[in-house]
Amino acid sequence: MMMNVPLLVAPLLERAEKYFAKKEVVSRTATGIQRFTYRQIGERTRRLASVLTQLGVQKGERVGTLAWNHHRHLEAYFAIPGIGAVLHTINIRLSPEHITYIINHAEDQVLLVDEDLWPLVEAIKDHLHTVKTFIVMTDYEELPETSLEHTRVHSYEKLLEKGDPTFAFDKDLDENAPAGMCYTSATTGNPKGVTYTQRSIVLHCMALGLVDTLALSESDIAMAVVPMFHVNAWGLPFAATWFGTTQVMPGPRFTPQLLAELIQQEKVTTTAGVPTIWLGMLQVLEAGNYDISSLRNIVCGGSAAPRGVIQAYETKYGVPFLHAYGMTETSPVVTCARLKSYQQDLSPEEKLDISAKQGLVVPGLEIKVVGPNGEVTPDGQEMGELLIRGPWIADEYYKDERSSEAFIDGWLHTGDVATIDEEGTIKLVDRTKDLIKSGGEWISSVDIENALMAHEAVFEATCIGVPHPEWAERPVACVVLKEAYRDKVTKDDLLSFIAPHFAKWWLPDDIIFMNEIPKTSVGKFLKRQLRDQLNQHLQQS
Ligand code: AMP
Repeated sequence: MMMNVPLLVAPLLERAEKYFAKKEVVSRTATGIQRFTYRQIGERTRRLASVLTQLGVQKGERVGTLAWNHHRHLEAYFAIPGIGAVLHTINIRLSPEHITYIINHAEDQVLLVDEDLWPLVEAIKDHLHTVKTFIVMTDYEELPETSLEHTRVHSYEKLLEKGDPTFAFDKDLDENAPAGMCYTSATTGNPKGVTYTQRSIVLHCMALGLVDTLALSESDIAMAVVPMFHVNAWGLPFAATWFGTTQVMPGPRFTPQLLAELIQQEKVTTTAGVPTIWLGMLQVLEAGNYDISSLRNIVCGGSAAPRGVIQAYETKYGVPFLHAYGMTETSPVVTCARLKSYQQDLSPEEKLDISAKQGLVVPGLEIKVVGPNGEVTPDGQEMGELLIRGPWIADEYYKDERSSEAFIDGWLHTGDVATIDEEGTIKLVDRTKDLIKSGGEWISSVDIENALMAHEAVFEATCIGVPHPEWAERPVACVVLKEAYRDKVTKDDLLSFIAPHFAKWWLPDDIIFMNEIPKTSVGKFLKRQLRDQLNQHLQQS
């Protein structure tokens, strides 16, 4: 028999403190670039953990973060699970209504907020029912103006001064206890919460270190561009710390230019983000004179990586492009599109075909593709829904009745439609859900449809994701007007009617008036047909 040692998050940081004390975290914040060693990060994290304990945070309670990628957020990544509490990273791009919902639903006790995101908190603070304390992560002496009682709002750095740099993390934790939380948008209704456990985070980190997966290692200089509020920046901050990897954190409101500069200056070797980011950086690279030759790869996921982008990085800049697939529910890494050893001799076109697919399931997980008649034939043709199981896959949504729709008989039903070929490579072809993914962030088509249909002139409306050169997808609405309103109501009338209900980037790029929306035999909108029809609609923009 072997030792039954629990897999916990805090020891990942302890390893960096002990063996990589001199290695650095390079963090861009509001006032510029700051550099910290893992020794300093360790001490600051212990101070934060002691402060949270003093503030009364209990095991199992949620602590929310509204923050960009920087060293303070990294400290929260370890301090919160390190006291047995739950790191709830909140997607700052959701609408204020959804942010309010998830903070209340998760019952966050404390919120750690970036200074530039404070106006968001100001706008929703009266609707937050559980948050006792707000901690502002700021470089400045002064705290932002607020009407909240001053005893409830603290400066992160001032609190840290009072913290204990030798504070001991809680080792008496169950590895299956919750350690992290992230909400993911649903087709309709409120976002759904996914809870990561101490154990699932550690196992997912191991997967990131495998040579045939992301091969993250001590020798890397890793820059997660994917936000730390989106599936824990794909687990990279946890794994990079554990392995003693140098980390570069791009901070608030970065531009593609800034990313190219950081890669050049800091000699970044691996970086990860959604296709929109890499598309944006391509334009900058083409216009400017940047040296990105330090990169050993770019990891791309969250939406399908366009062939043209893969090809441009690989052939023009000599940077291998690693396409990966996953979801909030899967921690996220499920598949990576790496060529097998015997595929290396294929033609460039054939290799590109493989890299543009979502790839092979990583060790530790199981997948199957299931059609109406059971598992599909692995011929790369037959389609079915992708099902996943494994130790870093969620098996329920947090306190949510919708769990039973996705978690069935021990498998996560992803809602993604895929083919699988004889090599085991999966290719995503569609989604059973009809969410729209713009720049890596979801837009609910159903919410937009409902808002449009509330207009007195609208007979029926639907909204679909249309491929967009920059944002991967953008929403386009198709509307049938009631007879009496035809030619009387304009696109702008409808857009201004729904605008108050949504974040600006949720609004459709176009509204197309139709005489009829194509439907299935049971009267559902045939979104697939519309998607085919409008496939090129936004290509010229
Ligand atoms: P999220 O939970 O926000 O990370 O979104 C997960 C969803 O994004 C998946 O269910 C897919 O529909 C989509 N997705 C993620 N990675 C890829 C990829 N490499 N190619 C195509 N779609 C992807």
